[in-house]
Amino acid sequence: MKPLSMWEATSNHRKDRPHLQGDTHCDVVIIGGGYTGLSAAYHLQKKNVKAIIVEKWQAGQGASGRNGGEVLTGYIGSMEAWEKKKGLESAKMMWQLSLDSIHLIEDIINKHQIRCDFKRNGDLFAAYKPGHMDALKRDQEYMARVMNYHDIKIVEKEDLPSEMNTSFYQGGRIDYGSAHFHPLNYALGLAEAVEEMGGIIYENSPAIKIERNSGKVTVTTPEGRVIADELVIATNGYADDVNPTIKKSVIPIESIMISTEPLPEELAEDIIKNDRAIHDTKRLLYYFRRTSDHRLAFGGSGRASSKRDQKNLFHQLHQGMLKVFPQLKGVRVEYQWGGKVGFTKEMIPYMGRLEDGTYFGFGYCGHGAAMSSLFGKMIADHITNEGLEDNPLMIDQLKPIPFHSHHAKAVGILKFYKKLQDAIS
Ligand SMILES: Cc1cc2nc3c(=O)[nH]c(=O)nc-3n(C[C@H](O)[C@H](O)[C@H](O)COP(=O)(O)OP(=O)(O)OC[C@H]3O[C@@H](n4cnc5c(N)ncnc54)[C@H](O)[C@@H]3O)c2cc1C
Repeated sequence: MKPLSMWEATSNHRKDRPHLQGDTHCDVVIIGGGYTGLSAAYHLQKKNVKAIIVEKWQAGQGASGRNGGEVLTGYIGSMEAWEKKKGLESAKMMWQLSLDSIHLIEDIINKHQIRCDFKRNGDLFAAYKPGHMDALKRDQEYMARVMNYHDIKIVEKEDLPSEMNTSFYQGGRIDYGSAHFHPLNYALGLAEAVEEMGGIIYENSPAIKIERNSGKVTVTTPEGRVIADELVIATNGYADDVNPTIKKSVIPIESIMISTEPLPEELAEDIIKNDRAIHDTKRLLYYFRRTSDHRLAFGGSGRASSKRDQKNLFHQLHQGMLKVFPQLKGVRVEYQWGGKVGFTKEMIPYMGRLEDGTYFGFGYCGHGAAMSSLFGKMIADHITNEGLEDNPLMIDQLKPIPFHSHHAKAVGILKFYKKLQDAIS
């Protein structure tokens, strides 16, 4: 089995970028070169604000280059549940932001001609149990009546063969607003767009220290320093000790993926008919889709406590894939990989500014392929004081989660999983 991700193996040319050496100055220094950090830099440069990114590995090597590429509308849980938590006006704004996020990505891709196979073919949310269809139907009705959103269609079990060749699911719902793309190629294209706009990205340059002095912030890497007016932390599920408050406010959850070898085109088009991004209502969900080279990319939960467990998890995921599509028995799984998805306690992404002036955006709870580009833009707008009045995703203060020991962390994650299930159902 090849160790690298299928996206890395099938990506466009990846530019090598230098690591930071010596002192350099800019307006805004950004830690983290995933979609959030790249988009923040892109939108700052658009406003002629000079941005420098320091990235621990290479641009897009965190979750942004490893994900399923399912660019989905909405959030974890239904908008009706969010209305109950946040009120109608906030829920409406949240929904609009989720639609805006996909439009923003589409605009950037078109403007910079990013070759990332972006397709607006909708997503199919597949019902694992018959009872789950009731929730999907209720949601369709709610979205039309309250959110004035009419792009959702219910697929009954008997009609499922027009979408997928499987008897594993009980039907589902399509949301035509969603899309999918090659996640790493989008990140690489966005990184090049940042540079076209005059931004700078230093790779293999982990931020190891942050200091504030006389109105300036200095970010130190092993061989250099960036001195800036403002700081953005965009490290999401990979947050480390460079900022303990942010590290303690994000819950990193492992997700894993496997990919088949390229399938005969007719087989790929038979298992998933309309090239949608698919995810399901299962307790520990599966998400999967075709790729432009006719593979099946299939993802699921990656919780494991040891390397051996990790190996079993990939095996279990493969077995899961065969339960959904038994016709793929004998097809070779060519790649397996995983990464960290950032969650928050409230299961909603957070953006804002810490007391010391640090800007942040993270915790997309598995919906960041869409939302993180918009968060980068909103962070840029926050820094330049533009248009963020009443944004329901802005928070005044981060409340770190007290996961002190390994055990407490494990217990916390288990409780969290329960909460996650409650939010989804
Ligand atoms: C396997 C998998 C499947 C997923 N599938 C989907 C999906 O289908 N749809 C969806 O919407 N979402 C999905 N997600 C989530 C999605 O990928 C993320 O929400 C999104 O990529 C977040 O982008 P980001 O820039 O905030 O974080 P990341 O892309 O993780 O970027 C954070 C960056 O910070 C860097 N960093 C960390 N610490 C430092 C430091 N000290 N100094 C410098 N750099 C540092 C890291 O190296 C990393 O590159 C998936 C995630 C995974 C792992």
